[in-house]
Amino acid sequence: LPSKLPAGKTSIFSVMSGLARKHKAIDLSQGFPNFETDNHLKDLVCKAMKDGYNQYPPMSGVWALRTRIAEKIAALYDICYDFETEILVTNGATQALYCAINAFVHPGDEVIVFKPAYDSYEPDIKLAGGKPVLVELKGKNFKIDWQEVEAKITSKTRMIIINTPHNPTGTVLSKNDMQQLEKLIRCTNIILLSDEVYEHLIFDDEVHESASKFPGLAERAIVCASFGKTFHNTGWKMGYCVAPEVLMKEIIKLHQATVFCVNHPMQRAFAEYLKKPEHYLQLGDFYQQKRDKFFDLMQGSGFKGTPSKGTYFQVMDYSKITDEPDVDFAKRLITEHGLAAIPVSVFHKNGKDHKQLRFCFAKTDETLEKAAEILHKL
Ligand code: PMP
Ligand code: GLN
Repeated sequence: LPSKLPAGKTSIFSVMSGLARKHKAIDLSQGFPNFETDNHLKDLVCKAMKDGYNQYPPMSGVWALRTRIAEKIAALYDICYDFETEILVTNGATQALYCAINAFVHPGDEVIVFKPAYDSYEPDIKLAGGKPVLVELKGKNFKIDWQEVEAKITSKTRMIIINTPHNPTGTVLSKNDMQQLEKLIRCTNIILLSDEVYEHLIFDDEVHESASKFPGLAERAIVCASFGKTFHNTGWKMGYCVAPEVLMKEIIKLHQATVFCVNHPMQRAFAEYLKKPEHYLQLGDFYQQKRDKFFDLMQGSGFKGTPSKGTYFQVMDYSKITDEPDVDFAKRLITEHGLAAIPVSVFHKNGKDHKQLRFCFAKTDETLEKAAEILHKL
């Protein structure tokens, strides 16, 4: 049978985490914390189940949760999304991305994707019959060359996808970047898909410049978020997206056709938990300590890098240690040294190998110390 995704392979995250489990390795590969989500949040889920919230919730999400999301965005980014028509609770950000791309990309449409990029955008575009137009981030700070973007825009450009803070590089888009983008797509029919799943994981003096903050972007943007990243429960697969009503009504058609609705007791629990902004506002400080810890521990090792500015990932160059291709090196690290990381080539255009590994530092201090001990011996 003809495949709809002929180049599709098992994701590197499954491959590396699977290998890590098999070899009982310390796992800094797939992005998830190895510490627990808040017991209070778990209690709220149990309470919602006991209170009888066990049947289908409203299709777009329970009102209480959508209201909380609207309040959070209004407080942080100074924009009012209508909770009835402009907010959709999804099965993680992954489902929001899938529905957003498939709602708007028609066969032959072009979608601009910045490389290196997270691995779900391109398959989603191809499933919709679209064509990913790849633009490489430039230099060691992974900057966007907006002139190049302008040159790549054609009459077929349907969508631009951005991701800030950025997986895997940990870079963040600046206010100036967002203004340039705003200038570029204002008065076009281009839709912006802004993947902001790491919005609260931001360090030093950086500010998260959400697309929602810029009127010329917000009027044409779908912004995706993930509770999994924010509340240490990636396995719950809960997230949401927001967009102006004219876009959201199309996204909801896909949501309805694919999953219809998402986990009811968890929505009730998040609606309660989000009443306290400190539950997400402290996250940047928490993860900055983790980043500092890991980065300090790596000093004096053969790995080099610049500190991540956001996300829970740190990319490091290993070219002083070996000239092996990064996939081979990452596999050998697991089988011979008991440590798992992600080879960065999988995010790059044509799988280009820059001799870099991505480490997830959402781990206990003890795990980070054990990992660094192994990495220092290489
Ligand atoms: N976008 C990016 C950049 C990610 O790193 C992830 C994490 N896996 C997702 C989207 C998907 O998020 P979720 O687990 O909520 O589906
Ligand atoms: N976003 C996670 C990462 O980059 C992985 C999610 C997944 O496995 N699909 O590691």
